Amino acid sequence: MRKGTRLTSALLLFICLSLASLAAWQIWFSRERALHDLNLSSLNLAQALDNYSEGVIRQSELVLLDLIEHLQHEGNTPASRHQLEALMRQQSEILGIASAITVYDAHGKRQLSSVRVPNDAPGATDRRYFTHHRDNPSPAIFIGPTVKSRVTGDWVFSISRRLDHADGQFAGVVVVTLGVEHFLQLFGSIKLGEQGSASLSSSDGTLLFRHPFREQDVGLNWSNSPILKVLQERDEGTSEQVSRIDGIERLYAFRRNSRLPLITVVALGRDEALAPWRHDAQLFATLILMLLVSVGVIGQRLLVDIRRRTRAERKLLIAQEELLDANARLEVLASQDALTGLANRRSFDQTLEVEIRRALRRQSALSLVLLDIDYFKRYNDRYGHIAGDTCLRTVAEILKSCIHRPGDLAARYGGEELALILPNTDADGAEAIARTFMTALQQRHLTHQASPFGTVTVSLGIASLVHRGEDSHDLALSLIQAADQALYQAKSGGRDCLQRADSVG
Ligand code: GH3
Ligand code: MG
Ligand code: MG
Repeated sequence: MRKGTRLTSALLLFICLSLASLAAWQIWFSRERALHDLNLSSLNLAQALDNYSEGVIRQSELVLLDLIEHLQHEGNTPASRHQLEALMRQQSEILGIASAITVYDAHGKRQLSSVRVPNDAPGATDRRYFTHHRDNPSPAIFIGPTVKSRVTGDWVFSISRRLDHADGQFAGVVVVTLGVEHFLQLFGSIKLGEQGSASLSSSDGTLLFRHPFREQDVGLNWSNSPILKVLQERDEGTSEQVSRIDGIERLYAFRRNSRLPLITVVALGRDEALAPWRHDAQLFATLILMLLVSVGVIGQRLLVDIRRRTRAERKLLIAQEELLDANARLEVLASQDALTGLANRRSFDQTLEVEIRRALRRQSALSLVLLDIDYFKRYNDRYGHIAGDTCLRTVAEILKSCIHRPGDLAARYGGEELALILPNTDADGAEAIARTFMTALQQRHLTHQASPFGTVTVSLGIASLVHRGEDSHDLALSLIQAADQALYQAKSGGRDCLQRADSVG
């Protein structure tokens, strides 16, 4: 994979991961906020219900105090009893939610009651409030457990105080029994959802009542719940736990009353309460998923496009390189003689011009050797044109092997005439090279029976440049003419030899 596609893939991955992380964070954060808001409103509800319960119990306490005062001042005569019972009925009505106000003597026998009670109705010796006050001299009120009233059959719980004789001896108990039904009406009127619940318990973890109401829950002891542990340190708190009553996971908000031994608990079904959050979270997650899929699809297309473009670019580059190679080959072909592989005439002319200018600039020597195969017409006639070509190629090859400097050039001047351009080489140097070549040719012993020499030989003309300030174009022509002239002399001198021309310049 190319760098471009790698970078694009990394960018796409980064975008997708960022989107997914942001979504996860947002969903988590909104859940925490929803939980916080739910807990806060439940705590506020618990506070309101706690205030209500405290108010009712305080009122009951006032009624009890008033009654005790009347009992102490008016004694226990039939007239005063009649008066007191009327007062108790009146107060019970004012209190509204009291199911009964009752006075028991030290033996648990009912002495006064705000309601009509059958004569055979049992006393209070087995009731918790009676045994509590009998065994405990404290004048504080006692909140009794919820029981079924033996008079009305209603579920009630009691607020009671101890009655003392003047000498401090136990004289009995005054009790206000509060109907659970009244509390349930208020607790039930609060919208807590299908799985919500609200309850009031005594501070030792005994359930007084709970909405929704079930008889079997009455008196349930949850003193080993973590809620009580929290309330040992703080007045209120929240927790998330499974209800021991119905096994539903709930969000609990609870509050301990600061003056009375009461605990109010408001609980919401966790799944139900978090349903709006879950709905929003699912919607958000779906949107993010769609976004991720879109980014994925667009990214995929982008990658395909980049790959296609990269491939096209690579092909273009290869085509360009091939074109450059072809051009280079063409250039070589254009400067090379096809038969001998030496430089062609065009290349010879250009090189000679360039080398003459360079030699003039640098004041250096330059030599030109022209050579012509002897009796070549006869060779062709004797051995055929194809053999003639082969011979010409061999002579050219031998000539090429005799030059070694990078600036030296062996060229086919025309027909069976070849040439050497030798920069930085004076006439002596050129002659030395020419003789090397003649020796090499001789050693090759190319048979030529139509020649008086019996082998293929060449005649050579050498011309060298001396500097007299002439222009380079004329010099090239003069150099060629001088070399050709020398070659002509070599031919006339019997062939298979070389001639040096006078210096040109
Ligand atoms: P001289 O010794 O005076 O140079 O005699 P010569 O026969 O070599 O010279 P001439 O100019 O009379 O003939 C040159 C011959 O070279 C004519 C031509 O057939 C032959 N020739 C020129 N170019 C080629 C070529 O490319 N291939 C072949 N096979 N022969 C060529
Ligand atoms: Mg010739
Ligand atoms: Mg010839």
